[in-house]
Amino acid sequence: MDDGIGYWLTRRAFLSGERPALVSGDRHVTYGEFDARVNALARGLADLGVRRFDRVGMLLLNSCEFMETLFACAKLGAICVPINVRLASSEVGYILADAGADVLVLHEPLAAAGRAALDEPGVRVRHTLLAWGAPVAGESAYEDVVAAGETRTLEMDVDASDVHAIMYTSGTTGRPKGAMLTHANTIANARNATMMGRGLREDDVTITAAPMFHIGGLGVHSLPFVYVGATNVVVPRFDPAEMLAMMAAQRVSVQFLVPAMWAALMRVPDFDSHDLSSLELAVSGGAPCPLPVIEFFQSKGVPFQEGFGMTETAPAVSMLDKDHVKEKSGSIGRPLFHVGARIVDEDDRDVAPGVVGELVLRGDNIFAGYWMLPEATAEAFRGGWFHTGDLGRVDEDGFITLVDRKKDMIISGGENVYPVEVEQVLARHPAVSEAAVIGLPDETWGESVAAVVSCEAGAETDAQELIAFARERLAHFKCPRHVEFVDELPRNATGKVLKTELRR
Ligand code: ATP
Ligand code: MG
Repeated sequence: MDDGIGYWLTRRAFLSGERPALVSGDRHVTYGEFDARVNALARGLADLGVRRFDRVGMLLLNSCEFMETLFACAKLGAICVPINVRLASSEVGYILADAGADVLVLHEPLAAAGRAALDEPGVRVRHTLLAWGAPVAGESAYEDVVAAGETRTLEMDVDASDVHAIMYTSGTTGRPKGAMLTHANTIANARNATMMGRGLREDDVTITAAPMFHIGGLGVHSLPFVYVGATNVVVPRFDPAEMLAMMAAQRVSVQFLVPAMWAALMRVPDFDSHDLSSLELAVSGGAPCPLPVIEFFQSKGVPFQEGFGMTETAPAVSMLDKDHVKEKSGSIGRPLFHVGARIVDEDDRDVAPGVVGELVLRGDNIFAGYWMLPEATAEAFRGGWFHTGDLGRVDEDGFITLVDRKKDMIISGGENVYPVEVEQVLARHPAVSEAAVIGLPDETWGESVAAVVSCEAGAETDAQELIAFARERLAHFKCPRHVEFVDELPRNATGKVLKTELRR
């Protein structure tokens, strides 16, 4: 076990080397081939000077190369740094510099942003491996490096407590923070994933469509499937109609997607012409899943389950199982078997059921700290529990409901206002497409509630009308005092609304 997750591949190649591991377009890779290519790549990276604890940046779409680079780093004891492919070059540069990456593995379609990022301040990348295209001076062709390396099993000098990935958070509440995930964290998460509900099996097939640079795509999706020796069909970008056709063609058995992706699938016009009879479990996570989406898939006979997770927790924390998904709709379910969870007040004392407090967590899947941010790490781990920054309450049956992020909570006239609650009310107005609620500094009230709203195409309303609409449905102190209209709400690459930007 001390060899970390790199050992998964060695072991899978030995036990089930002929079984399909990865499918990418027409390409089919067995576990034996997967392991051999990873050994070769690891040797190639070592020849470029990559050593234990060194960082390797990855600006890669969902692909075999993503999986291979991650596992090659794991076998070397090096640390992979997956980067959000939708970031601007300056943001990519920030992450490369922050992580201190020496090598970058890059896909040709992202080459413009990747190459420009190398000129950003503090970036010290010495070498780039380019996949899917022709390298320029100073770069190597990824496939050449793999072809040159020996494929036999690699001696590993890795400890389970070593960090194998720095996963950057989505940057919803500020600059993305690098969460250090150890081999032990990822192993614990894979065990949690294989233990929850129906579990995962060797003969499972899934499509990795949620981005793998994000912990949802990586830790819920791809890695646990490698752990059990199942098949990952990797797709570089999500297209709802193609996805549905592929789910039928590949006989997908377990599928994870973020709520917006499930909603998009549901709207594919010829949905019913696709045979989804192989689908035994649909999982949604990353944000709350609207009830109509859950009901739609249930009406098609698909067992639907919701999960809650964070980058810092590798990521799975809790699950709303298929038997409670409707009855407890809006809840993130109960903590997984090996995850400890409490709801606490400002002094870290447990609060009673029904009372809102901060969700704090403990377990082998909880990260080792924020990269180069010792103060943020100490603050998050005060009292030995990881403070999620998410506010919620637990009901008598142990189901947790999140109310909002601590950073987003508004205190107006001494009363707590949870923006999510106000947003949900405003969204029920027929003219409103989306609403984001924030607190603005206010001399009398400390903070006052403000809403930023985008309207449905062709629909019209005004501030007066929306305030009146809220007053009929919410306590007075929760109602917005100001309403601003925008064409579109600012979002980060993961699709979450950037409230820090709205406040500015
Ligand atoms: P940053 O930490 O950089 O501000 P982030 O918190 O959005 O960004 P992630 O780690 O990607 O970065 O997201 C985790 C957060 O997403 C959780 O803390 C929670 O607020 C939210 N979240 C995840 N899953 C769910 C869910 N099922 N329901 C509600 N909220 C969820
Ligand atoms: Mg966060």
